[in-house]
Amino acid sequence: MSAGSSDSELMVNRDLTRLAPAFRAAVEAAIAECNSPANGLNAFVYEAYRSAGLAAMYYQRGRTVKPPYKPVTNAPSNLHSWHGFGLAVDVVHAQKFWSPPEGDAWFRKVGAIFKKHGCTWGGDWKMADLPHFQWGRCPASPSDAARALINAQGMQAVWEHVDALGTAQPAAPVVLSDAAAPEVMTPPAAAPAVAPAATVTSRTLGTIDGEGFVCTIREDSDGRVHFTADADIDADGANGQAGGPAAYRDDDSGTEALANGGMRIDADGRVVCAQNWARDIVLLGPDNQPRVFPGGVIASTTWYRHAGKALDDPAAYVDAETVPYVVVPPLVVQRTAGVVRGCKARVTWRGKSVDCVVADRGPANKVGELSIAAARALGIPSSPRNGGTDKVEVLYELWPGVAAPGFLLQKA
Ligand SMILES: [Zn+2]
Repeated sequence: MSAGSSDSELMVNRDLTRLAPAFRAAVEAAIAECNSPANGLNAFVYEAYRSAGLAAMYYQRGRTVKPPYKPVTNAPSNLHSWHGFGLAVDVVHAQKFWSPPEGDAWFRKVGAIFKKHGCTWGGDWKMADLPHFQWGRCPASPSDAARALINAQGMQAVWEHVDALGTAQPAAPVVLSDAAAPEVMTPPAAAPAVAPAATVTSRTLGTIDGEGFVCTIREDSDGRVHFTADADIDADGANGQAGGPAAYRDDDSGTEALANGGMRIDADGRVVCAQNWARDIVLLGPDNQPRVFPGGVIASTTWYRHAGKALDDPAAYVDAETVPYVVVPPLVVQRTAGVVRGCKARVTWRGKSVDCVVADRGPANKVGELSIAAARALGIPSSPRNGGTDKVEVLYELWPGVAAPGFLLQKA
Protein backbone atom coordinates (compact mmCIF):
# COMPACT_ATOMS: atom_id res chain seq x y z
CA MET A 1 0.00 0.00 0.00
CA SER A 2 1.15 3.49 -0.71
CA ALA A 3 2.03 6.06 1.88
CA GLY A 4 -0.96 7.68 3.50
CA SER A 5 -2.99 4.49 3.68
CA SER A 6 -3.70 5.15 7.34
CA ASP A 7 -5.41 8.38 6.35
CA SER A 8 -9.03 8.29 7.48
CA GLU A 9 -9.93 9.48 3.98
CA LEU A 10 -8.87 6.03 2.80
CA MET A 11 -11.35 4.25 5.02
CA VAL A 12 -14.76 3.23 3.77
CA ASN A 13 -17.12 5.95 4.85
CA ARG A 14 -20.67 5.17 5.89
CA ASP A 15 -21.45 8.49 7.51
CA LEU A 16 -24.86 9.48 6.18
CA THR A 17 -24.36 13.09 7.23
CA ARG A 18 -21.98 13.48 4.29
CA LEU A 19 -24.81 12.78 1.85
CA ALA A 20 -27.05 15.37 0.19
CA PRO A 21 -29.89 16.08 2.66
CA ALA A 22 -32.78 14.88 0.49
CA PHE A 23 -30.88 11.76 -0.55
CA ARG A 24 -29.92 11.05 3.05
CA ALA A 25 -33.59 11.31 4.08
CA ALA A 26 -34.52 8.88 1.29
CA VAL A 27 -31.80 6.39 2.32
CA GLU A 28 -32.79 6.55 5.97
CA ALA A 29 -36.46 6.00 5.14
CA ALA A 30 -35.65 3.12 2.77
CA ILE A 31 -33.36 1.39 5.28
CA ALA A 32 -36.03 1.76 7.97
CA GLU A 33 -38.57 0.16 5.65
CA CYS A 34 -36.15 -2.67 4.70
CA ASN A 35 -35.57 -3.42 8.37
CA SER A 36 -39.16 -3.09 9.58
CA PRO A 37 -40.53 -6.19 11.33
CA ALA A 38 -42.64 -6.92 8.25
CA ASN A 39 -39.66 -6.96 5.86
CA GLY A 40 -36.80 -7.96 8.17
CA LEU A 41 -34.16 -7.57 5.45
CA ASN A 42 -31.37 -6.57 7.82
CA ALA A 43 -29.89 -4.09 5.34
CA PHE A 44 -27.22 -1.53 6.11
CA VAL A 45 -25.24 1.13 4.29
CA TYR A 46 -21.77 -0.26 3.70
CA GLU A 47 -20.40 2.77 1.91
CA ALA A 48 -21.69 6.30 1.39
CA TYR A 49 -19.41 9.21 0.47
CA ARG A 50 -16.26 8.07 -1.32
CA SER A 51 -13.19 10.29 -1.05
CA ALA A 52 -10.72 10.96 -3.84
CA GLY A 53 -8.08 8.96 -1.95
CA LEU A 54 -10.22 5.88 -1.58
CA ALA A 55 -11.34 6.01 -5.22
CA ALA A 56 -7.68 6.17 -6.28
CA MET A 57 -6.91 3.13 -4.12
CA TYR A 58 -9.77 1.17 -5.69
CA TYR A 59 -8.44 2.14 -9.11
CA GLN A 60 -5.00 0.69 -8.31
CA ARG A 61 -6.47 -2.68 -7.38
CA GLY A 62 -5.83 -5.12 -10.21
CA ARG A 63 -3.55 -2.62 -11.91
CA THR A 64 -0.48 -1.80 -9.84
CA VAL A 65 -1.78 -3.62 -6.74
CA LYS A 66 -2.15 -7.41 -7.35
CA PRO A 67 -3.99 -9.56 -6.54
CA PRO A 68 -6.68 -9.10 -7.72
CA TYR A 69 -5.49 -9.56 -11.31
CA LYS A 70 -8.29 -7.62 -12.94
CA PRO A 71 -9.26 -4.04 -12.20
CA VAL A 72 -12.21 -3.69 -9.83
CA THR A 73 -13.26 -0.31 -11.17
CA ASN A 74 -12.79 1.83 -14.21
CA ALA A 75 -13.51 5.05 -12.37
CA PRO A 76 -10.15 6.87 -12.15
CA SER A 77 -11.39 9.42 -9.62
CA ASN A 78 -14.18 9.76 -7.08
CA LEU A 79 -15.88 12.26 -9.38
CA HIS A 80 -16.71 9.51 -11.88
CA SER A 81 -19.21 8.02 -9.45
CA TRP A 82 -22.04 9.73 -7.59
CA HIS A 83 -20.41 8.38 -4.41
CA GLY A 84 -17.91 11.22 -4.78
CA PHE A 85 -20.76 13.73 -4.72
CA GLY A 86 -22.56 12.35 -1.66
CA LEU A 87 -25.34 11.10 -3.94
CA ALA A 88 -24.83 7.29 -3.87
CA VAL A 89 -24.69 4.50 -1.30
CA ASP A 90 -23.92 0.80 -1.36
CA VAL A 91 -26.27 -1.35 0.71
CA VAL A 92 -25.51 -4.91 1.83
CA HIS A 93 -26.72 -7.45 4.40
CA ALA A 94 -25.68 -6.61 7.96
CA GLN A 95 -24.17 -10.05 8.68
CA LYS A 96 -23.67 -11.73 5.29
CA PHE A 97 -22.58 -8.59 3.44
CA TRP A 98 -22.49 -9.27 -0.34
CA SER A 99 -23.94 -12.81 0.09
CA PRO A 100 -27.34 -12.28 1.67
CA PRO A 101 -29.42 -15.32 2.66
CA GLU A 102 -31.67 -15.22 -0.42
CA GLY A 103 -28.98 -14.11 -2.87
CA ASP A 104 -30.08 -11.78 -5.64
CA ALA A 105 -33.69 -11.96 -4.46
CA TRP A 106 -32.63 -10.11 -1.31
CA PHE A 107 -31.11 -7.29 -3.39
CA ARG A 108 -34.28 -7.13 -5.53
CA LYS A 109 -36.41 -6.61 -2.41
CA VAL A 110 -34.06 -3.89 -1.15
CA GLY A 111 -34.02 -2.37 -4.65
CA ALA A 112 -37.81 -2.21 -4.82
CA ILE A 113 -37.96 -0.40 -1.50
CA PHE A 114 -35.26 2.14 -2.39
CA LYS A 115 -36.99 2.88 -5.69
CA LYS A 116 -40.17 3.74 -3.78
CA HIS A 117 -38.11 6.35 -1.93
CA GLY A 118 -36.86 8.12 -5.05
CA CYS A 119 -33.58 6.26 -5.61
CA THR A 120 -32.20 4.58 -8.70
CA TRP A 121 -30.99 1.00 -8.25
CA GLY A 122 -27.77 -0.29 -9.85
CA GLY A 123 -29.47 -3.68 -10.21
CA ASP A 124 -31.52 -2.21 -13.08
CA TRP A 125 -28.42 -1.47 -15.11
CA LYS A 126 -27.22 -3.66 -17.98
CA MET A 127 -24.12 -4.43 -15.98
CA ALA A 128 -25.93 -4.87 -12.71
CA ASP A 129 -24.40 -3.36 -9.58
CA LEU A 130 -26.74 -4.89 -6.99
CA PRO A 131 -25.68 -3.03 -3.82
CA HIS A 132 -25.57 0.40 -5.48
CA PHE A 133 -28.25 3.09 -5.07
CA GLN A 134 -28.15 6.70 -6.12
CA TRP A 135 -30.38 9.76 -6.04
CA GLY A 136 -33.13 9.39 -8.65
CA ARG A 137 -32.59 12.85 -10.15
CA CYS A 138 -29.02 12.00 -11.11
CA PRO A 139 -28.17 10.70 -14.56
CA ALA A 140 -26.51 7.26 -14.61
CA SER A 141 -23.06 8.68 -14.02
CA PRO A 142 -21.64 12.15 -13.39
CA SER A 143 -20.99 14.23 -16.50
CA ASP A 144 -18.15 16.65 -17.20
CA ALA A 145 -20.67 19.38 -16.34
CA ALA A 146 -21.18 17.87 -12.89
CA ARG A 147 -17.42 17.65 -12.33
CA ALA A 148 -16.95 21.24 -13.49
CA LEU A 149 -19.72 22.38 -11.14
CA ILE A 150 -18.32 20.62 -8.05
CA ASN A 151 -14.82 21.92 -8.81
CA ALA A 152 -15.99 25.49 -9.33
CA GLN A 153 -18.78 25.82 -6.80
CA GLY A 154 -18.61 22.86 -4.42
CA MET A 155 -20.78 19.89 -3.67
CA GLN A 156 -23.73 21.97 -2.49
CA ALA A 157 -24.12 23.46 -5.96
CA VAL A 158 -24.44 19.98 -7.47
CA TRP A 159 -26.94 19.00 -4.79
CA GLU A 160 -28.97 22.06 -5.63
CA HIS A 161 -28.85 21.21 -9.32
CA VAL A 162 -30.24 17.73 -8.81
CA ASP A 163 -32.79 18.98 -6.29
CA ALA A 164 -31.24 17.07 -3.39
CA LEU A 165 -30.94 19.93 -0.91
CA GLY A 166 -34.40 19.85 0.61
CA THR A 167 -35.88 16.91 2.41
CA ALA A 168 -38.66 16.32 -0.11
CA GLN A 169 -38.53 13.27 -2.31
CA PRO A 170 -38.51 13.67 -6.07
CA ALA A 171 -41.91 13.13 -7.66
CA ALA A 172 -40.74 10.04 -9.51
CA PRO A 173 -37.40 8.37 -9.98
CA VAL A 174 -35.80 8.80 -13.37
CA VAL A 175 -35.69 5.58 -15.40
CA LEU A 176 -32.13 5.01 -16.48
CA SER A 177 -32.05 1.39 -17.60
CA ASP A 178 -30.93 2.07 -21.17
CA ALA A 179 -28.51 4.90 -20.67
CA ALA A 180 -27.02 3.23 -17.63
CA ALA A 181 -23.27 3.41 -17.15
CA PRO A 182 -22.63 1.50 -13.94
CA GLU A 183 -19.69 2.53 -11.86
CA VAL A 184 -18.01 -0.88 -11.72
CA MET A 185 -16.12 -2.28 -14.73
CA THR A 186 -17.80 -0.10 -17.33
CA PRO A 187 -16.38 3.29 -18.21
CA PRO A 188 -18.96 6.05 -18.07
CA ALA A 189 -20.19 6.71 -21.59
CA ALA A 190 -21.14 10.17 -22.75
CA ALA A 191 -23.47 10.99 -19.92
CA PRO A 192 -26.19 13.62 -20.15
CA ALA A 193 -25.68 16.93 -18.39
CA VAL A 194 -26.92 17.10 -14.84
CA ALA A 195 -30.68 16.94 -15.08
CA PRO A 196 -32.73 19.79 -13.66
CA ALA A 197 -35.82 19.07 -11.63
CA ALA A 198 -38.53 17.66 -13.84
CA THR A 199 -41.63 19.40 -12.52
CA VAL A 200 -40.43 22.96 -11.98
CA THR A 201 -39.11 25.24 -14.70
CA SER A 202 -36.53 27.87 -13.97
CA ARG A 203 -35.44 31.17 -15.49
CA THR A 204 -32.34 33.22 -14.89
CA LEU A 205 -33.01 36.52 -13.14
CA GLY A 206 -29.46 37.70 -13.58
CA THR A 207 -25.83 37.04 -12.80
CA ILE A 208 -23.39 38.79 -10.46
CA ASP A 209 -19.66 38.38 -10.97
CA GLY A 210 -18.24 41.04 -8.67
CA GLU A 211 -16.89 38.57 -6.11
CA GLY A 212 -14.53 36.41 -8.13
CA PHE A 213 -17.14 33.82 -9.09
CA VAL A 214 -20.16 33.91 -11.31
CA CYS A 215 -23.36 33.72 -9.32
CA THR A 216 -26.47 32.91 -11.32
CA ILE A 217 -29.70 33.92 -9.65
CA ARG A 218 -32.65 31.80 -10.75
CA GLU A 219 -36.37 32.01 -10.27
CA ASP A 220 -38.41 28.82 -10.47
CA SER A 221 -41.94 28.62 -11.80
CA ASP A 222 -43.16 27.97 -8.25
CA GLY A 223 -41.83 31.41 -7.21
CA ARG A 224 -38.72 30.26 -5.36
CA VAL A 225 -35.65 32.39 -6.06
CA HIS A 226 -32.31 30.71 -5.39
CA PHE A 227 -28.60 31.05 -5.85
CA THR A 228 -25.37 29.63 -4.48
CA ALA A 229 -22.70 32.00 -3.22
CA ASP A 230 -20.16 32.55 -0.46
CA ALA A 231 -21.13 34.11 2.87
CA ASP A 232 -20.16 37.48 4.27
CA ILE A 233 -21.36 38.44 7.72
CA ASP A 234 -23.65 41.46 8.08
CA ALA A 235 -23.91 43.14 11.49
CA ASP A 236 -26.28 45.93 10.49
CA GLY A 237 -29.22 46.56 12.77
CA ALA A 238 -27.40 45.02 15.75
CA ASN A 239 -28.00 47.91 18.12
CA GLY A 240 -28.19 46.06 21.41
CA GLN A 241 -32.00 46.17 21.31
CA ALA A 242 -32.34 42.52 22.34
CA GLY A 243 -29.56 42.59 24.93
CA GLY A 244 -26.83 41.43 22.55
CA PRO A 245 -23.69 43.30 21.56
CA ALA A 246 -23.93 46.19 19.13
CA ALA A 247 -22.31 46.22 15.70
CA TYR A 248 -20.75 49.66 16.10
CA ARG A 249 -19.57 51.40 19.24
CA ASP A 250 -17.98 54.78 19.76
CA ASP A 251 -14.70 53.20 20.97
CA ASP A 252 -14.63 50.75 18.03
CA SER A 253 -15.24 47.79 20.37
CA GLY A 254 -18.40 46.67 18.56
CA THR A 255 -18.69 43.35 16.75
CA GLU A 256 -17.98 45.19 13.49
CA ALA A 257 -15.11 47.61 12.81
CA LEU A 258 -16.11 51.24 12.42
CA ALA A 259 -14.00 51.32 9.25
CA ASN A 260 -16.20 48.63 7.67
CA GLY A 261 -19.14 50.94 8.29
CA GLY A 262 -17.36 53.81 6.58
CA MET A 263 -16.55 55.54 9.88
CA ARG A 264 -13.46 56.54 11.86
CA ILE A 265 -12.53 58.15 15.17
CA ASP A 266 -11.24 61.67 14.60
CA ALA A 267 -8.48 63.52 16.47
CA ASP A 268 -10.99 64.63 19.11
CA GLY A 269 -12.03 61.01 19.77
CA ARG A 270 -15.35 61.51 18.05
CA VAL A 271 -16.84 59.03 15.59
CA VAL A 272 -17.28 60.66 12.20
CA CYS A 273 -18.20 59.48 8.73
CA ALA A 274 -15.08 58.68 6.73
CA GLN A 275 -17.19 57.69 3.73
CA ASN A 276 -20.30 59.44 2.64
CA TRP A 277 -22.17 56.13 2.29
CA ALA A 278 -21.85 55.65 6.04
CA ARG A 279 -24.70 58.17 6.25
CA ASP A 280 -26.94 55.61 4.56
CA ILE A 281 -26.37 52.96 7.18
CA VAL A 282 -26.17 54.68 10.58
CA LEU A 283 -28.47 57.03 12.46
CA LEU A 284 -27.15 60.59 12.42
CA GLY A 285 -27.23 63.43 14.92
CA PRO A 286 -28.05 67.08 14.19
CA ASP A 287 -24.41 67.58 13.12
CA ASN A 288 -24.86 65.02 10.33
CA GLN A 289 -22.35 62.70 12.04
CA PRO A 290 -23.09 59.30 13.67
CA ARG A 291 -25.27 59.75 16.73
CA VAL A 292 -24.06 58.04 19.92
CA PHE A 293 -26.82 56.28 21.85
CA PRO A 294 -26.62 55.21 25.54
CA GLY A 295 -23.84 52.69 26.14
CA GLY A 296 -21.76 54.12 23.30
CA VAL A 297 -23.91 52.43 20.67
CA ILE A 298 -23.86 53.77 17.14
CA ALA A 299 -27.09 52.53 15.64
CA SER A 300 -27.05 51.03 12.18
CA THR A 301 -30.11 50.50 10.05
CA THR A 302 -31.53 47.74 7.89
CA TRP A 303 -33.68 48.03 4.80
CA TYR A 304 -36.52 46.40 6.73
CA ARG A 305 -37.91 48.62 9.49
CA HIS A 306 -40.38 47.37 12.09
CA ALA A 307 -43.77 48.97 11.64
CA GLY A 308 -44.83 51.61 14.15
CA LYS A 309 -41.31 52.48 15.28
CA ALA A 310 -39.73 55.87 14.65
CA LEU A 311 -36.95 56.22 12.08
CA ASP A 312 -34.49 57.31 14.79
CA ASP A 313 -35.32 54.41 17.13
CA PRO A 314 -32.43 51.89 17.15
CA ALA A 315 -35.00 49.14 17.86
CA ALA A 316 -36.82 49.88 14.60
CA TYR A 317 -34.25 47.85 12.68
CA VAL A 318 -33.63 44.12 12.39
CA ASP A 319 -31.05 42.95 14.93
CA ALA A 320 -28.34 41.00 13.07
CA GLU A 321 -27.15 39.60 16.38
CA THR A 322 -30.39 37.79 17.20
CA VAL A 323 -32.41 37.58 13.96
CA PRO A 324 -31.34 35.24 11.12
CA TYR A 325 -31.64 37.36 8.00
CA VAL A 326 -30.24 37.54 4.50
CA VAL A 327 -29.12 40.44 2.36
CA VAL A 328 -30.08 40.39 -1.31
CA PRO A 329 -28.70 42.24 -4.32
CA PRO A 330 -31.00 44.87 -5.88
CA LEU A 331 -31.58 42.82 -9.03
CA VAL A 332 -33.63 40.32 -7.04
CA VAL A 333 -35.84 43.14 -5.83
CA GLN A 334 -36.15 44.67 -9.30
CA ARG A 335 -36.82 41.49 -11.28
CA THR A 336 -39.29 39.54 -9.19
CA ALA A 337 -42.98 40.38 -9.06
CA GLY A 338 -43.43 39.41 -5.39
CA VAL A 339 -42.40 41.72 -2.59
CA VAL A 340 -38.92 40.81 -1.31
CA ARG A 341 -38.50 43.00 1.78
CA GLY A 342 -39.71 40.94 4.75
CA CYS A 343 -40.18 37.78 2.71
CA LYS A 344 -39.37 34.27 3.86
CA ALA A 345 -35.89 32.95 3.08
CA ARG A 346 -33.75 29.95 3.89
CA VAL A 347 -30.00 29.47 3.91
CA THR A 348 -28.40 26.02 3.64
CA TRP A 349 -24.76 25.14 4.26
CA ARG A 350 -23.25 21.67 4.47
CA GLY A 351 -26.58 19.97 5.02
CA LYS A 352 -27.85 22.41 7.63
CA SER A 353 -30.60 24.98 7.04
CA VAL A 354 -31.85 28.06 8.86
CA ASP A 355 -35.10 29.93 8.19
CA CYS A 356 -34.48 33.63 7.61
CA VAL A 357 -36.14 36.88 6.58
CA VAL A 358 -34.92 39.18 3.81
CA ALA A 359 -34.07 42.24 5.88
CA ASP A 360 -31.39 44.07 3.96
CA ARG A 361 -30.30 44.99 0.46
CA GLY A 362 -26.68 45.11 -0.66
CA PRO A 363 -24.73 46.76 -3.46
CA ALA A 364 -25.39 45.66 -7.05
CA ASN A 365 -22.13 43.76 -7.55
CA LYS A 366 -22.18 41.87 -4.25
CA VAL A 367 -23.96 38.65 -3.37
CA GLY A 368 -23.88 36.20 -0.49
CA GLU A 369 -24.45 37.98 2.81
CA LEU A 370 -26.23 36.89 5.96
CA SER A 371 -26.67 38.12 9.52
CA ILE A 372 -24.55 37.12 12.50
CA ALA A 373 -27.45 35.09 13.88
CA ALA A 374 -27.94 33.18 10.61
CA ALA A 375 -24.23 32.31 10.40
CA ARG A 376 -24.19 31.21 14.02
CA ALA A 377 -27.18 28.93 13.49
CA LEU A 378 -25.41 27.24 10.57
CA GLY A 379 -22.00 26.93 12.24
CA ILE A 380 -20.33 29.38 9.85
CA PRO A 381 -17.81 31.63 11.69
CA SER A 382 -20.07 34.55 12.60
CA SER A 383 -17.76 37.45 13.42
CA PRO A 384 -18.50 40.40 11.13
CA ARG A 385 -14.81 41.33 11.37
CA ASN A 386 -13.30 38.04 10.19
CA GLY A 387 -16.02 35.42 9.88
CA GLY A 388 -17.94 34.10 6.90
CA THR A 389 -16.73 31.73 4.23
CA ASP A 390 -15.18 32.36 0.81
CA LYS A 391 -16.29 28.96 -0.44
CA VAL A 392 -19.13 29.16 -2.92
CA GLU A 393 -21.21 26.52 -1.20
CA VAL A 394 -23.95 28.41 0.58
CA LEU A 395 -27.45 28.05 -0.87
CA TYR A 396 -29.76 31.06 -0.55
CA GLU A 397 -33.46 30.58 -1.20
CA LEU A 398 -36.20 33.16 -0.93
CA TRP A 399 -39.91 33.29 -1.55
CA PRO A 400 -40.91 36.79 -2.72
CA GLY A 401 -44.48 37.59 -1.75
CA VAL A 402 -44.50 35.19 1.21
CA ALA A 403 -43.92 37.00 4.51
CA ALA A 404 -41.44 35.52 6.98
CA PRO A 405 -43.09 34.65 10.31
CA GLY A 406 -43.32 37.80 12.45
CA PHE A 407 -42.60 40.12 9.53
CA LEU A 408 -44.69 42.10 7.06
CA LEU A 409 -44.05 42.40 3.36
CA GLN A 410 -42.83 45.93 2.71
CA LYS A 411 -42.94 47.26 -0.83
CA ALA A 412 -39.72 48.78 -2.12
ZN1 LIG B 1 -21.90 2.16 -5.39
